[in-house]
Amino acid sequence: MINFNVPPYVDTAIDYIKECIANQKICGDGKYTKECNRWLEEKTGTRKALLTTSCTHATELAALLADIQPGDEVIMPAYTFVSTADAFVLRGAIPVFVDIRPDTMNIDEKKIEHAITDKTKAIVPVHYAGVACEMDTIMDIAKRHNLIVIEDAAQGIMSTYKGKALGTIGNFGALSFHETKNYSMGEGGALLIRDDKDVEDAEIIREKGTNRSKFYRGQIDKYTWVNQGSSYLPSDMNAAYLYAQLEVADKINNERLDNWNRYYAGLKELKDAGKIDLPVIPEGCVHNAHMFYIKAANIEERSALIAFLKEKGIMCVFHYIPLHTAPAGIKYGRFDGEDEYTTRESERLARLPMYYGLKPEQVDMICECVKEFYK
Ligand SMILES: *Cc1c(COP(=O)(O)O)cnc(C)c1O
Repeated sequence: MINFNVPPYVDTAIDYIKECIANQKICGDGKYTKECNRWLEEKTGTRKALLTTSCTHATELAALLADIQPGDEVIMPAYTFVSTADAFVLRGAIPVFVDIRPDTMNIDEKKIEHAITDKTKAIVPVHYAGVACEMDTIMDIAKRHNLIVIEDAAQGIMSTYKGKALGTIGNFGALSFHETKNYSMGEGGALLIRDDKDVEDAEIIREKGTNRSKFYRGQIDKYTWVNQGSSYLPSDMNAAYLYAQLEVADKINNERLDNWNRYYAGLKELKDAGKIDLPVIPEGCVHNAHMFYIKAANIEERSALIAFLKEKGIMCVFHYIPLHTAPAGIKYGRFDGEDEYTTRESERLARLPMYYGLKPEQVDMICECVKEFYK
């Protein structure tokens, strides 16, 4: 059987975790958390990276930093994971869902401005499949309307838009290191902070509203409660698990890209025959092979394809019931404009197995099975 996902693991992780235990340093902000933060800062060029307990929490932290208040409106794609909306709904804000582009499944930048009202506070672009949104347009809209941009870059580490790392273009970027992502710590994430002015507040909120980070750096002689906050620090053991992968990040990324390209080459004849659609990578975008998806003609064909592949021992999945059609989306949010593509495209999409360690022969076998289905 070929699983849909296998969590990434690199052998050195076990030594690093044992070291944490031997040194009795298992709480947050230890050696490996610092190594991960430093690695992220160097790799992405962000002003500051802070490891968090999840991407959901990184987004919550960004919502607090952006001072999102009850009644504020936050623009985001209708096609995304629930966390994108949850982080703002928790602050009493209203998610305003916008239609997606059929080529990348990202928010349609041309439909954003229509959704802006007096109450709009932020735009949350989601870089689906690690392929960038049209960020120049989005940043221009944000600037003209004085809006904060929080990038949901959960799937976007190692990807770039016109040379800039995803998550570093807006005011804040949230990364995920969940076990389904390209690099993992089980549960975890990171907040990328672009501007100096937000760094100290972020450290305080992440550390239960205290100035403990400053204390550890020796900048103050005692630490105390200075603001509202929560606890968004992961255990250093989780960071150790992640750091082992970051040390070989390029190897992991290249192997994923090889498999992605192999899928694409193997299935291109079906696309050329008009039977399926394949992912589109716009010019200026470098992606990270976070996922490989194909699009069937419609929901019935997709269900039949998934069942057929399951019979062959290949696990493939679909995801994201569009948020504006979900019970909580109806309760807390609203859709702006017309749902031209969100529902239609979401019903066609099927994700094929993609993980570090997937073998080229397995990719070939999966392509053969998909072709057999379409015969
Ligand atoms: C995985 C994911 C999240 C949530 O990440 P967690 O680390 O599990 O909180 C949020 N948004 C998107 C687009 C994701 O893919």
